[in-house]
Amino acid sequence: MSRLVMKFGGTSVADLERIRRVARLVAAEVDAGREVAVVVSAMAGRTNELVAWTDGAGAAAAGVPSSDDEYDVVVASGEQVSAGLLAMTLRNMGYFARSWLAWQIPIVTDDAHGRARIQEVSPDKLLAAMAKGEIPIIAGFQGIDQDGRLSTLGRGAGDLSAVAVAAALRPAVCNIYTDVDGVYTTDPRIEERARRLERISYEEMLEMASLGAKVLQSRSVELAMAQRVPLRVLSSFVEPGEDQGQGTIVCDEEEIVEKRIVSGVAYSRDEAKISLFGLPDHPGVSSQIFSRLADANLNVDMIVQSRARHGDSANMEFTVGKRDAARAIEIVRAAQAEIGFEDMAVNEDVSKVSVIGVGMRSHAGVAKTMFGALAERGVNIQVISTSEIKISVLIDAAYTELAVRALHAAYGLDQI
Ligand code: ADP
Ligand code: ASP
Ligand code: MG
Repeated sequence: MSRLVMKFGGTSVADLERIRRVARLVAAEVDAGREVAVVVSAMAGRTNELVAWTDGAGAAAAGVPSSDDEYDVVVASGEQVSAGLLAMTLRNMGYFARSWLAWQIPIVTDDAHGRARIQEVSPDKLLAAMAKGEIPIIAGFQGIDQDGRLSTLGRGAGDLSAVAVAAALRPAVCNIYTDVDGVYTTDPRIEERARRLERISYEEMLEMASLGAKVLQSRSVELAMAQRVPLRVLSSFVEPGEDQGQGTIVCDEEEIVEKRIVSGVAYSRDEAKISLFGLPDHPGVSSQIFSRLADANLNVDMIVQSRARHGDSANMEFTVGKRDAARAIEIVRAAQAEIGFEDMAVNEDVSKVSVIGVGMRSHAGVAKTMFGALAERGVNIQVISTSEIKISVLIDAAYTELAVRALHAAYGLDQI
């Protein structure tokens, strides 16, 4: 019997009507003879609301960081509600279902509250339940640390819970049901000509996800790749029996027959650019700046340094997530005298647009097409960064949509 982990995101369980449809999809798989475990997210918007209660203006705990263990107690509660509601709905339909919270399984994590890493998912209790014919409905996004305290895995990490459960229940496939019927060449909300990809490699999906494509959370793809979990993205907005379509299969590069140079365009508005002017130009300066940021656990993404034409000073620009901008500025400013720069500036009106494709490894000219398409639309590039399979540019946030559409057309992605 093939085991199946079905994960439903926030929009799929947004209200009771949608939960009933999800229950029908689960029931159809059970009726077809599959052993099914389900992972659910909180109802759409609920996690944002819970986060705002902990950290917004006038919040219960204004100023309490998301690294606080009580933050997790609050924000993990959304998944408990949807797991219970789905289990009830299935019971009403005559199925033997039960909700599972992370501590009951358990899904053990480290104690990095707000962004905990999974250490182990014990399969035994889930397998025993499934062997008795039960459908486990697992609350995603949450775990339990070594001290028995609740933890959460980071925003969007319901996908990660699902992949981790599928890896623990191996052999099992993991279907991620969401509000689009697969992974597209770019966000279909921005470019209506975006095309669904039948297959995408783990590596490309990982880049797309970490560069902003929300459809899968990046650590879930990383785990699926490492543990070889077969992953498929499908729509939950269909009725059982209706043509589901094939969705998108995330798989090894070798399993993709049709080779493309560029597979997708991603964007992220969660960027802030910090510029330092008049830095001394001698060894050790970058190390001084970035070791301070690393010690504070801040992730720096793009970096560019340029030497002034005259004199011996340099300028440096780097980007961090918007959430981290204030702390990064504070840290760098506190060390201004020691580092020895003259001035600094921050710009939060920037976004990062990226093109991704494994074909870049063997094809020249991808950057030329990108820069040409942006130049034609008058979009100025502020910072560039590349890896083997992606090129990213930082641009004025106002041009995000324009740039995404221009690049989508420039690589012929509307015609694949
Ligand atoms: P869920 O609530 O099911 O977890 P998400 O909102 O996290 O759903 O992810 C689905 C959304 O991802 C889609 O509605 C779509 O707007 C967005 N998205 C961004 N990039 C892509 C892409 N390349 N392909 C498909 N969807 C994308
Ligand atoms: N509910 C969590 C969030 O909104 C996890 C998820 O939906 O994947 O971030
Ligand atoms: Mg999601």
